Amino acid sequence: MVCPKCQSPNVRRLRGYWEDLPAESPNRRRYAPPDAPNGQPLVALVAVVVGIALAVSGDVLPGLVVAAAGLLWGAAMRRRSTRYQGSLTAYDASRICLAEYYVFA
Ligand SMILES: [Zn+2]
Repeated sequence: MVCPKCQSPNVRRLRGYWEDLPAESPNRRRYAPPDAPNGQPLVALVAVVVGIALAVSGDVLPGLVVAAAGLLWGAAMRRRSTRYQGSLTAYDASRICLAEYYVFA
């Protein structure tokens, strides 16, 4: 495995390189893996359940609004999580050329 740009054999997997960096290294943030999306899927589910319960018990409009918000929120979190999985896969496949700090897949 050599660098496609400078042909240097001094190439490492990006994740391994990042894991070996000392905590105080300025490169730790730069070469870090993508951040996991935060957000509780359970909260969206609870909103849907509470909304439906409200709608059934007579507060139809507020109930439907809460349930719809929960559904939209859940869908947005799903999208974010799919995107995160994609960038994590790309990160894990990335390599870094230590001769010039060039990252490539
Ligand atoms: Zn290179």
